Amino acid sequence: MIDPPDQPHTLETLTAALRAAGIRVTRQRAALLRVLAQAVDHPDAPELQKRAEGDVPGISLSTVYRTLATLEAQGVVLRHQFDGTSARFEPAQSTESGHHDHMIDVDTSEVIEFCSDRIEQLQAEIAAELGYEIVHHRFELYVRKARARD
Ligand SMILES: [Zn+2]
Repeated sequence: MIDPPDQPHTLETLTAALRAAGIRVTRQRAALLRVLAQAVDHPDAPELQKRAEGDVPGISLSTVYRTLATLEAQGVVLRHQFDGTSARFEPAQSTESGHHDHMIDVDTSEVIEFCSDRIEQLQAEIAAELGYEIVHHRFELYVRKARARD
């Protein structure tokens, strides 16, 4: 069976999670879920509000924060508190196909995703050597564009 495309699948999951938490999916909240499901750049709450407002006006920043907190509690949204930036959000689903880590550009606050089998394996080895298995990990690199040397 072929998996449905990522985005509608993510949107369904987010909508179902909100309903499961007993929250009414208003037109404004539906717009928020859409922009969240579509985002690939780890936006913060004010940015999500701006995008949702562009679609359906009338969502307050506090509603955005509360909705995100609910989705996080339901395990369908990941909240990242990177150093030096406001909290950033991404659907947990976007990591389903494969866990990924993040690089944060300290000059632009751009978030770059990457995944390294070598790093994953090395982390597991280090934990195992010390008698542990990894439950969860965060691995963040703070980076700056390398200048071309000439
Ligand atoms: Zn990510």
